[in-house]
Amino acid sequence: MLRPKIITTLSGLALAASSLAIAEDEKKKPAAPAPPVQEKVYPTGYTDTPFLPGDKWRVHDDARPRPKVVTPGATASSAPSDATVLFDGTDLSQWIMSKDKSPADWILGEGYMEVPPKGQGVGGSIRTKADFSGDFQLHVEWASPAEVKSQSQGRGNSGVFFPGGYELQVLDSYQNKSYADGQASALYGWKPPLVNACREPGQWQTYDIIFEAAQWDAEGNLVKKANITVIHNGVVTHHRQEYLGTTRHRKVAEYNKPIKMGPIALQNHNNPVRYRNIWIRQLDLNSND
Ligand code: MG
Repeated sequence: MLRPKIITTLSGLALAASSLAIAEDEKKKPAAPAPPVQEKVYPTGYTDTPFLPGDKWRVHDDARPRPKVVTPGATASSAPSDATVLFDGTDLSQWIMSKDKSPADWILGEGYMEVPPKGQGVGGSIRTKADFSGDFQLHVEWASPAEVKSQSQGRGNSGVFFPGGYELQVLDSYQNKSYADGQASALYGWKPPLVNACREPGQWQTYDIIFEAAQWDAEGNLVKKANITVIHNGVVTHHRQEYLGTTRHRKVAEYNKPIKMGPIALQNHNNPVRYRNIWIRQLDLNSND
């Protein structure tokens, strides 16, 4: 009576072995492909959203024009694709003497220009050949003399002038006491910078400037003051600061006449201040309306 039991047991073992083999085979089979995942489709905009208050565009409006493409420079200091390069360190062709409009006679060095000594050349400031209007972004790099001479306003003095005659002061303000509204990055005779971000004498410094022009109505009444944003060596020194008027020395600035177009000028204060890498972008501040 034992035999059938043994047979049954052997048969059971065979069945178990066969099941194991099937399981192994199943493992070897490639996995069934997963059902395709439906990629989410993102709309490029909307046509059924509410209108922005007082605007012709809806929220996320698909019909709203996209901004034009500008290729940025290799660094934040390099001119982007839509900039006008005013000085790239190789020639002064974009500059003339403010006094008589003759070719700019400042010293051209290796990749920079320098204010000439007193009595050399025509003298005085230089200005861009071209006039600029309205609102712009301007990048300027400058260095005060490595050799420190004189003090206060006699030390590394120059300046960047905007159309109409508003000065952004250039001065060696590194451990150099002078009046607050006359130090580097000051709106000369009006507003000191928010902080003193000056580098040591001889080092290159950057001004990144956003200038918004003053506006007058048809009768010549001032309706909007000029304002300026300045980033000095990466540090904000003015943020949409209004100008009191065009710059004056020892007098209160005022807006005296409507000016629509004008040059960018660099001041000759008889100190050998250097400049390099100057570029400008005219801004259409309403281009995203
Ligand atoms: Mg000056």
